[in-house]
Amino acid sequence: MTIFEKIIARQIPAEVLCENEHAIVIRDISPQAPVHLLAIPKKPIVRVAEASGDDALILGECLLLAAKAAKDCDLEQGGYRLVINNGPDAGETVPHLHVHVLGGRGMNWPPG
Ligand code: AMP
Repeated sequence: MTIFEKIIARQIPAEVLCENEHAIVIRDISPQAPVHLLAIPKKPIVRVAEASGDDALILGECLLLAAKAAKDCDLEQGGYRLVINNGPDAGETVPHLHVHVLGGRGMNWPPG
């Protein structure tokens, strides 16, 4: 069971911003920007590379919930970055798909 499954099951605490049937948005415990959220599908899809067509609705709902949380955090005007780390070279540390929502400061491109 990943740490995100435990958070979804309320076995360990987290700051939950919003959730629905398909996904949950929490605040990242180690923020890399003034606002750093994680939108996490409740189904423990390991990573994008392991998602299937059956997961299309869940992935869409997760992105929409990420956008709602960003709006609720007043990031809509300034913008924000969505990041999915897929695999070790990308820096993935938790093998449960999640979308980082980063905002509240200017971002560099290309990313590190
Ligand atoms: P990644 O490196 O893309 O797999 O992202 C994992 C993210 O999960 C990191 O940004 C961590 O700071 C975050 N994280 C790990 N444990 C927790 C936790 N208990 N509550 C909130 N965020 C966490």
